[in-house]
Amino acid sequence: MITRSPALLQRQASSQPDVTPLILRSAWQAQLSGAIRDPRELCRRLDLDDSWLPGAERGHELFEVRVPEAFLARMRHGDPNDPLLRQVLPLAAEGEAIPGYITDPLAEADHTPARGLIHKYTGRVLLIASPTCAVNCRYCFRRHFPYEQNAPSRSQWDASLEYLRGDTTISEAILSGGDPLAASDRQLAWLVERLDAISHLKRLRIHTRLPVVIPDRVDDALLGWLSATRLQKVVVLHINHANEIDEAVVAACERLKGAGVTLLNQSVLLRGVNDSVDALASLSERLFEAGVLPYYLHVLDPVAGAAHFDVPDEEARELVAGLREKLPGFLMPRLVREIPGETSKTPL
Ligand code: SF4
Repeated sequence: MITRSPALLQRQASSQPDVTPLILRSAWQAQLSGAIRDPRELCRRLDLDDSWLPGAERGHELFEVRVPEAFLARMRHGDPNDPLLRQVLPLAAEGEAIPGYITDPLAEADHTPARGLIHKYTGRVLLIASPTCAVNCRYCFRRHFPYEQNAPSRSQWDASLEYLRGDTTISEAILSGGDPLAASDRQLAWLVERLDAISHLKRLRIHTRLPVVIPDRVDDALLGWLSATRLQKVVVLHINHANEIDEAVVAACERLKGAGVTLLNQSVLLRGVNDSVDALASLSERLFEAGVLPYYLHVLDPVAGAAHFDVPDEEARELVAGLREKLPGFLMPRLVREIPGETSKTPL
């Protein structure tokens, strides 16, 4: 019998049918609740050979499938090696125990002074604004994160906000998750209004994949609270392959820029997704066409279940050297690793 992790149970609980009347839901919320959550459905919709199903079901037991339709629409049919599908298709290999691959590779549990708040780096604090994501990426370093212990209610936010008010060295609040933009605009507007009132905060940074996987997320309600804050705004997107950037994503980026947002991108170097100079160069070029600057290229965090995505450091360095020969400096992402206990990302 397969044992499900607490994180999975929480995610399943959060995926129970939303009772909000349809009429009150935004287009993006309807797409979020309509995301594919069944491995059989995912394989069927992409015309995958039946041989992929047992592995997909095994992986799904460990970390549930979640793929929005807008992201699925950019995948090639009948191609299990499609670089977008590779990121979301569960595999039997996720169940293999590999030495060195653990559930909390960044030791975040050691840096949570208040519920929903992670303080690892000087001057910056990370707030878990939403426990869920629009897409479940198989390589995610938080795939085992105990969201159920770190999803504060509005009253519990008070402790986090008090922590921020009390530390004048903090100049930047980072909204993370899950995906922070999976929270409602009402919740986010409430939170950002309070952050806005903390005078020593200068910047609001949002780490999100939602404008990529559901571009309709960048709607008037989001742009309303984003435009209203006095804080400087940075949105760090998470895009790993040029095929993720279709015209709807470009339009979403334009809307964000129109609200005064600086757009950056971080990627993860993933075996079978973007582990070639050509794939990385196309990604940087396409990002820039969409008005987004490449920021970081992370090597994989050693999270249990994701070892099959690993690209060794030496190969990563060679890829970046090859990339440097092709691209101008401003299109070069920085190759980094996050090491628990370090005060910043470590360049490779
Ligand atoms: S969107 Fe980000 S946080 Fe969510 S599963 Fe993907 S990588 Fe993880």
